[in-house]
Formats: sequence, structure tokens, C-alpha cells
Amino acid sequence: MSRPRPLRYHSTRSLGPTVPISQAIAAGLAPDGGLYVPEALPTIDPTAFDPHGTLADTAATLLAPFFAGDALADQLPAICAEAFTFDAPLRALPAHPHSMMLELFHGPTSAFKDFGARFLAACLRRLPHADARSLTILVATSGDTGAAVAAAFHREPNVRVVILYPDGLVSPRQAHQLGCFGDNVSALRVAGRFDDCQRMVKAALNDTALQAQLPLSSANSISLGRLLPQMSYHAHAALGWWRAHGTPLNFIVPTGNLGNALACLWARELGLPIGEVRLACNANATLPDYFAGADYAPREAIATLANAMDVGAPSNFERLRWTFPDETRLRQLLQARSVDDATIRRTITDHAQGHREVFCPHTATAMHLLDRLRADGDDAPWAVVATAHPAKFESVVEPLVGHPVKVPPALAAMLARGTSAEPLAASDAALRDRLL
Ligand SMILES: *Cc1c(COP(=O)(O)O)cnc(C)c1O
Repeated sequence: MSRPRPLRYHSTRSLGPTVPISQAIAAGLAPDGGLYVPEALPTIDPTAFDPHGTLADTAATLLAPFFAGDALADQLPAICAEAFTFDAPLRALPAHPHSMMLELFHGPTSAFKDFGARFLAACLRRLPHADARSLTILVATSGDTGAAVAAAFHREPNVRVVILYPDGLVSPRQAHQLGCFGDNVSALRVAGRFDDCQRMVKAALNDTALQAQLPLSSANSISLGRLLPQMSYHAHAALGWWRAHGTPLNFIVPTGNLGNALACLWARELGLPIGEVRLACNANATLPDYFAGADYAPREAIATLANAMDVGAPSNFERLRWTFPDETRLRQLLQARSVDDATIRRTITDHAQGHREVFCPHTATAMHLLDRLRADGDDAPWAVVATAHPAKFESVVEPLVGHPVKVPPALAAMLARGTSAEPLAASDAALRDRLL
């Protein structure tokens, strides 16, 4: 048998140098500030997947060409089994025979970020540390990423996790979760917004003097180690639907930094039976404006009820443009819609009354787009991607639905622990001082 050709990776900003995937995963960001992408997206035949396989099996088959020839290739099935220990069920919704919800909130921190964070941790655990000293993983979070990364690396030897989150702009339960780990995890509540946190992390990563004293890495959604595994559940759900019905499945993805939706689009490019992909955004309208024909104009984020999507400068946009270099075609291929807070509230209330279904505010943005499609007479199969459990946002959801939301056991265990976070000014120097 011939060995598959190794797939190499380069920055979105240059064609070289190229690196193997384990190096791209270890580094996070490319040295020129761009995002790592493969030389070309591989293709895969949908019949290559085991029809009785688990989500972890689908992930291992799907990701194999991405790891071809790499040091981690042989361990990929073990990495997937270690990361994907919980399901991503595609559940039928009562509202319409072809309406479904892809539930991505059954992991340890009740949001989809668990898939990527656990996969990244399973990879890093197997890579030799270039440096014997402990590695500090910096993570800027708008609410859910920080807890997922902390849970994935909690008590990992020789790893320290430092979380930066915008003080007062995450839900009370998200804040509790971020500060409940202790041990090798520190939570810093930054007097600023998510974009400040992201800028401070980037500045620290690019600070060579700081890096010389303290080896740093990042676990933000720009890391391929988080992006690639997110293709798996879109693929698994679409394959299941396609085997049963012979048609592709369409997706509506709540979108902030564009990581989850891009993973869905990449899975479609590989050849998975995925039909249309629609982006549901909150009032942060950078992407909806672009897809409506305006120039791409990143801006400051504004605070909304769907706080994990409060992003004004979606970092994976650079990868989207790399994937679809022809702008006219890209605009024909994708639609993005902005959903304001009042509509989020109304969607949550309406579904709780009509169908006794409870959604988190992020999922509600996508649900609203589906409601509009159905109102226009669309009968196609659509999966709304449910990105977080509503119990994480009880302060928004419970007053709207008029009853308590049942808390999943993993979240309940975290809420029972103590919690603490240190205040930090929103300046690059403040973070530098805190790290040293
Ligand atoms: C992170 C997050 C999103 C946005 O996902 P992106 O990959 O950043 O587009 C949506 N919903 C929830 C609950 C999230 O945590």
C-alpha cells in the first residue's frame, strides 16, 4: 500500500513556508500573523464512512487526510476517541417534519466549544514540548471558549491556562464556570470587551521578549486544532440524514468568530452531503453587511443577549476568503442575517409557549431564521445548530419562558464549586506584568 501524500499547511497570508499539521496545531497562529490552512482541501467519498460508526469514528475517517504523513497520524483514532466522549444528537423538532436541532451542548461545559478544546488538548498532550518548562496557554473568551479550554487542560501537568474574559459581559453562570477551576487555571476579568481580550492575547503571543521568558501558546478558535474537529459533527449528522433520506442536510449556524460555520462549509467542500449553510448573527452585523454587498468592515463589538457571538472582527473571515477567493461566488454561496435582541427574546418566548422547547439566545438566532424560512413556505430539511445549553443563560431565558431550566449535571457540579477571578486592566502591558 502506498503511503498517502503528507498534507502541509501554510499561512493565509503567504504560500510558504509550509509546515506539518502538528506544527500548525502547536503554534496556533502562523508566524506572519495569518491563519494556517492546508495547501488544498482534501476530498472524501461519503461512502468511505462506517454507516454504524460513532461520532469519534466519523471524526477519525474525516480527519485522516488532514493528518496524512504527520507524527500524529497513527494516533488520530485515539485522539478522536479521547476528545469525543459525548454525543451530538440530531433531534427532530415538533414544529415541522423536516426541522431538526443538532445539539452540541452535551459536553463538560455545555457548549460546542468542548469538541474543539478537547481535541486540541488531546493533540497537544501527544506532541513533544519544544521546551521542558511549563507551557502557558492564553485564551481570550467571549464566554464559552474559556471554560471549555480550562476543562480540557485542568490539572494537565506542565500546562498553565490563563483565561481573559470581558468583565460583566458574560452570563453569571459563565463567569462562575470560568473561575471555578483553580489549580493550573487562572481567570482574569478584563475591564474591556472581548476584542480587547483578543488583542491582548495576540500582543503577548507576538512579544518575543516575553516568549523568551515564558513559552506561550493560544487556544483560540484560530487554532486548526479547534477548527478541524468541528467539521465532525456536521459531517456525522449530514451522513446520518443522507443515509436515511438520500438528500443533503441544510444547516443554520449561530456565528461569531466564524469557526463553527467555516468548519461546516469545509465539510461540504470535502464532499459531505451538506446542502445550504446559512449564518445567523446577532446585532453584530459585520458578516451580514458584507454578504449584503458592502465592503468587509470589521468594527467594535456591541453587547447582545447572545454574548458568545459578540464579535465585530470575525477572525476566521481570512480563512473563508482563502476558501472562496472569488468574492462574487462567495456572496452567492452564503447568506448571513442579523437577529436583534428583541427578536431573540420573542423567538425564545414563542417556542416555549408553542412547542415547549427552550433554546439558548445563540441558538435562538438560528431558530428565528428557520422560522422565517418556514413562514415563506420552505419545506427543505434544515438543522439548527444548538451551540449551548439554555441553562448557561438562565438569567436571560428563565424570565422569558416563565419556569426554571433544568441544569445538566456537569454544569451543576461546577456551580457547586467556589469561584474566583482577578481584575485586570485592558492593556497589553497589564497582561505582560501579570504573566511575569
Ligand atoms: C462560540 C459560540 C458561538 C459562535 O461560534 P463561532 O465559531 O465563534 O462562530 C455561538 N454560540 C455559542 C454558544 C458559542 O459559545
